[in-house]
Amino acid sequence: MKFSTTYLCLGDTFFQRALPQKVVSPTLLLWNTRLATSLSIANEWQKDKNLLAQYFSGSKLPLGADPIALAYSGHQFGHFNPQLGDGRAHLLGEVIDNNGVRQDIQLKGSGQTKFSRRGDGKCALAPALREYIMSEALHALGVPTTRCLSVVATGEIIHRGIAQHGAVVTRSASSHLRIGTFQYFAVFGEISSLKKLLDYTIKRHFPEFNQLRVEDNLTFDEVILGFLEQVLNKQITLIIQWLRIGFIHGVMNTDNTTISGETIDFGPCAMMGRYDKNAVFSSIDEYGRYAFGKQGQVAQWNVARLADCLLPLLVEFYAQQEQSDHCEKILKAKAVIKVQSIVHQYSQKFDKAYYTMYAHKLGFGEVMSNDLSIKVNSLTDELLEIMQNQGLDYTQTFHALTVSLIQNIQGEHFSQQLSAELDRWYQTWHSLLAEVHQGGSHPYCQLAHRVMVKVNPVVIPRNHHVEALLARCEQVVSQQVPESHYEGVNHILAEFIKVINSPYLEFEATKKYQDTPLDGDKSYQTFCGT
Ligand code: AMP
Ligand code: MG
Repeated sequence: MKFSTTYLCLGDTFFQRALPQKVVSPTLLLWNTRLATSLSIANEWQKDKNLLAQYFSGSKLPLGADPIALAYSGHQFGHFNPQLGDGRAHLLGEVIDNNGVRQDIQLKGSGQTKFSRRGDGKCALAPALREYIMSEALHALGVPTTRCLSVVATGEIIHRGIAQHGAVVTRSASSHLRIGTFQYFAVFGEISSLKKLLDYTIKRHFPEFNQLRVEDNLTFDEVILGFLEQVLNKQITLIIQWLRIGFIHGVMNTDNTTISGETIDFGPCAMMGRYDKNAVFSSIDEYGRYAFGKQGQVAQWNVARLADCLLPLLVEFYAQQEQSDHCEKILKAKAVIKVQSIVHQYSQKFDKAYYTMYAHKLGFGEVMSNDLSIKVNSLTDELLEIMQNQGLDYTQTFHALTVSLIQNIQGEHFSQQLSAELDRWYQTWHSLLAEVHQGGSHPYCQLAHRVMVKVNPVVIPRNHHVEALLARCEQVVSQQVPESHYEGVNHILAEFIKVINSPYLEFEATKKYQDTPLDGDKSYQTFCGT
């Protein structure tokens, strides 16, 4: 691994230099060969499980690693906490992947830092494995996400109410910059750090915008507002992808909101089985702030918090520009109006992306007349309402609709199995599909089917399967000798990981993981894993 850590150039207010803690008996449990290869990790290196366990538990530092814990703040369930930061994570450094993209390599569960507050700096085994499984699943489903390179058992027992095995999970991310990173400097009034951070972030995440900034010689306020718009767009893209597959993040705090728009921190996440816009599984989300259907609004709220951080930069810029005696209040009012004009774009952009996503899930193509779009949008609303009222499974329903188009061609009739309400909807759906695809190169069912198979997964990492597998892995680590842990865990997870790595294809094994839980996930609860 060739580390070249640009974050270090930002200066030591941005991080603490901190060494990961050596662990008792590191044992490699999971290794993501495909990711490792894309990160240019040499094959020779990858063969030595003991060495990997040492490196990716933090017990031994790879050459060139200069570990740091990052500083950030965050709004947690709406309450601002100025002092968060990596309390149990160490950024080993940055590497360039095979696509030329800079990636952070970070250990999580690797011991205390100055940001640990009262935490032990550790991570339990099940949440570490869960992060691996869920991030791989999301990646294969086509959702922007941080990814996991490895999970290493530490051989230590940690306490989370009950005794649990400790683990270190290593993840790659296109950066760990969060809305909370901006909040950290904004709350302490560190304008020059904010400017450095803004410049760094634009160069790292928005190269095209950066080019525009240089070529068009954008003024500083244009840069700030342009950046805010870029982040807003990324957040919309991310949430729409979550909604497409039925993902509930569970803890959309601003410290868990990456600027890059990648999913991060899988602690209390869950997949939605039955369609329910109010679905919440996190044990601490008492009021449903982060319910499935609220995620779009929450992301806008989070973007507005980023906008707050940018206000002092705008105020300073306007003060320099106007060189008048305008009091700060007036300049601030001007800055607020400017950022609001961006934040207010959110709803319209989100709605457009939302209905486009569902149009694809229902087999409609890109270009539609305004008139047809309106009809397709209300068709979407109607279907979701029927699904909500009847408690239909989200993934199974869209999959069944997809398959029905081919069955129709073969002369079978999916609609015969439907409730009267859904049957009426089904007839309208077909007539609209026929209208939209008329004059196409193939029958409308085939054309629609082609669109749908790409966006409607046949399988998702259902909560009951994930939990059952995690329990079996924990058993292996509890009962067997460390030398057999790698084989044991991989034996348990191999088939599931293979299936979720191809969520749009149906293998023989896929069937085993498509079923819904007996209780419809009614008693399912997730935890932050801290
Ligand atoms: P998370 O729930 O992982 O997003 O973490 C929220 C905040 O709590 C971050 O600042 C973490 O670094 C910190 N944190 C979570 N768990 C621990 C722990 N076991 N020890 C120290 N800090 C922690
Ligand atoms: Mg976090």
